[in-house]
Amino acid sequence: MLKLSGKAVYKGIAMGPVAVLKKDDQQVKRTKVTDADAELARVGKAGEKARMQLQALYDKAVKEVGEASAAIFEVHQMMLEDDDYLESIHNMIRTEMVNAEYAVAVTGDNFSEMFASMDDDYMKARSADVKDISNRLVRNLMGQEDMDFTSMEPSVIVADDLSPSETVQMDKSKILAFVTVHGSTNSHTSILARMMNIPALIGVPLDLNEISTGTKVVVDGFKGEVIFDPSEEVCAETEKAMKEEEEKLQLLHTLKGKENVTLDGHKVNIYANIGGVGDVGYVLENDAGGIGLFRSEFLYLGRNDFPTEEEQFQAYRQVVQTMAGKKVIIRTLDIGADKQVDYFNLGQEDNPALGYRAIRICLKQPDIFKTQLRALLRAAMFGNLSIMYPMITSTEEVKKIYAIVDEVKAELDESQIPYKVPEQGIMIETPASVMVSDELAELVDFFSVGTNDLTQYTLAIDRQNEKLDDFYNPHHKAILRMIRMAAENAHKCGKWIGICGELGADTELTEEFLRMGIDELSVSPSMVLKVRKAVREAKIDK
Ligand code: PEP
Ligand code: MG
Repeated sequence: MLKLSGKAVYKGIAMGPVAVLKKDDQQVKRTKVTDADAELARVGKAGEKARMQLQALYDKAVKEVGEASAAIFEVHQMMLEDDDYLESIHNMIRTEMVNAEYAVAVTGDNFSEMFASMDDDYMKARSADVKDISNRLVRNLMGQEDMDFTSMEPSVIVADDLSPSETVQMDKSKILAFVTVHGSTNSHTSILARMMNIPALIGVPLDLNEISTGTKVVVDGFKGEVIFDPSEEVCAETEKAMKEEEEKLQLLHTLKGKENVTLDGHKVNIYANIGGVGDVGYVLENDAGGIGLFRSEFLYLGRNDFPTEEEQFQAYRQVVQTMAGKKVIIRTLDIGADKQVDYFNLGQEDNPALGYRAIRICLKQPDIFKTQLRALLRAAMFGNLSIMYPMITSTEEVKKIYAIVDEVKAELDESQIPYKVPEQGIMIETPASVMVSDELAELVDFFSVGTNDLTQYTLAIDRQNEKLDDFYNPHHKAILRMIRMAAENAHKCGKWIGICGELGADTELTEEFLRMGIDELSVSPSMVLKVRKAVREAKIDK
């Protein structure tokens, strides 16, 4: 039995087999070889295996997402056969007498850089593909297996760290819990775990080489503990705790259909945050009154090229239609910082959180923005959709956004495509937006406070930096005063204000938020009923 502690990002209990996810183990070393032919043969074998893997992925994708989306695996198969690519690998092995892993990794990097620097957008996007196939070849050469979720039984994922794009690609029905060595409580991966109701522990001092896939494990998000190879006694206790937890959840479920009203009659909207169409089920299951934050950037993650207008339109339309008249606030893409996407070619930045991110990308690259806006304006015809813009710092930015929206309207008019310009609001997540919230309130329809970033930028604490978790204090007076200030300014102009950052679900603050006059709290679906309980136990007019 091995017991370790970590930080819980979602409090829940799980028990099951471990699935060790080793992905960034690809630290390829350059070694000298004496037999070049043997290395070339290894490349051939790894390529053969890759072709079979890609064919299996293609077949699976055709069934699940259709031929068009599956085509990427065909492209990968073609790239694997590319003469220039293979010749570069062979040449390096022969002339430098180096190991196959090194030759493949270096060739992959070279080709990927070459594609990235091309003018043609299609070729640029191939940069990520060539990296992908090179990583696959290296994995095959090193004898590492693909994480195969299809045949995997529900498991506890144990990894060094997980990126948001890796997390969104996982088949959620197969994940009992996450346990990671690194990661911070405010990262998007942690947010995803909360959204999916999945017990998750981060910062667990594990040596992945000592844990094998299949080992039984208990994850206790309440105690912040993970126990590998638990004794029978621990298993029995865990089963009892899981049953009790289930009973508590059932009790919370009796709040479904009840109003979000305080003991003294104040009402508030409780909405849910989602990352994609697949999360709408959690929203309905937990009886949220609407969607207060649809992080649309998740549509851009975990793929090799931009989602088309049609793909986006279908996703937005599906969500608003399923929500059947309930409010759905879709945030325009917030790529950048920890949400990196290769095909955006954002390049290296010293301070990505203070960098080229979110609305800044949209204003600098209006073509990307316009595609999304067209999809949103078209989808607005099908339900109660609102648009929300992230990372706003000034009224000038909002005016520039409106000018682009006007261009999109003119284009849609010209093509006689039906659309509607819905309610448009902004996120209050920079200190600058709080300080000019009086002027911003005049321009927009609503505010939604992003406390995750507002805390990061106000306290000068990188939300991704696990060393700073102890300093990250969203209860800091400065944050609460800022929320109050934004609320007062919104209300002076007759606009509404919500909170969609993680703090909105902090039931220690529910009463205080209601006293500030916050009109809406948008929280992870799993927190909706807990917040409803806190609201129904609160008294505002004390
Ligand atoms: C926030 O910053 O609080 C927020 C809701 O946005 P995100 O967490 O996606 O940056
Ligand atoms: Mg944010």
